[in-house]
Amino acid sequence: MRYLIISDIHANLAAFKAVLDDAEGNYDKVWCLGDIVGYGPDPNECIELLASLDQICISGNHDWAVLGKLDVDDFNPDARHVSLWTRNELAESNIQFVQSLPIAMVQEEHFTLVHGSPRHPIWEYILYPAVAQVNFEHFSTRYCLVGHTHSPVIFHAPNESDGICEAQVPSTNNGPEPLGKQRLILNPGSVGQPRDGDPRASYGILDTDQFTFEYRRIPYPITEVQERMQKLGFPSRLINRLSFGW
Ligand code: ZN
Repeated sequence: MRYLIISDIHANLAAFKAVLDDAEGNYDKVWCLGDIVGYGPDPNECIELLASLDQICISGNHDWAVLGKLDVDDFNPDARHVSLWTRNELAESNIQFVQSLPIAMVQEEHFTLVHGSPRHPIWEYILYPAVAQVNFEHFSTRYCLVGHTHSPVIFHAPNESDGICEAQVPSTNNGPEPLGKQRLILNPGSVGQPRDGDPRASYGILDTDQFTFEYRRIPYPITEVQERMQKLGFPSRLINRLSFGW
């Protein structure tokens, strides 16, 4: 089976569509690692498009925030602004879709799916090897797929000899690469708000028959999204960051 691995769409419909166009014909099902909404101007459209696919999606912190499941005062002012706006915008059926999302998922015995980390699925950011290292004890499958940091990365299980966990910045648009037998934590990066200095939408294709993963980066019409955000009076910092990928 081939899976489209996406995360952190953040209501960016143009980026989401560009990813689906690019991946067309290369996947059978979709695994989405949370944060469908927040930051971007098209929350309803993104939820409806995702719901129309053959998919499994888990909850992110921004999804919880629009449901009022966590306090938006924990967000920075820009994120809070859009979260409250999103809460007002969402159609009832879309609120129900977000409400139905599980927090974590284990699939086909080899893969655990969470938004933040297996230790703290909603909140923890696995940005560094030291954080990845402790998290390998919190899932039982060989591989774990995470989102939340908006940066594509592969963490290798702690080395048996020295206990060191290594982080690898994956190469992109290079075709499928073997996953290997070692335990891994993989982050596909963000569809709608990349933060690794590359503004292109980020995603992955996982093949569970071949045990391969391909990281991909795809351009999308950023200025169109920025114009929409401008019209809606979104904070300028959120608008500008899309140009730079931070
Ligand atoms: Zn996010």
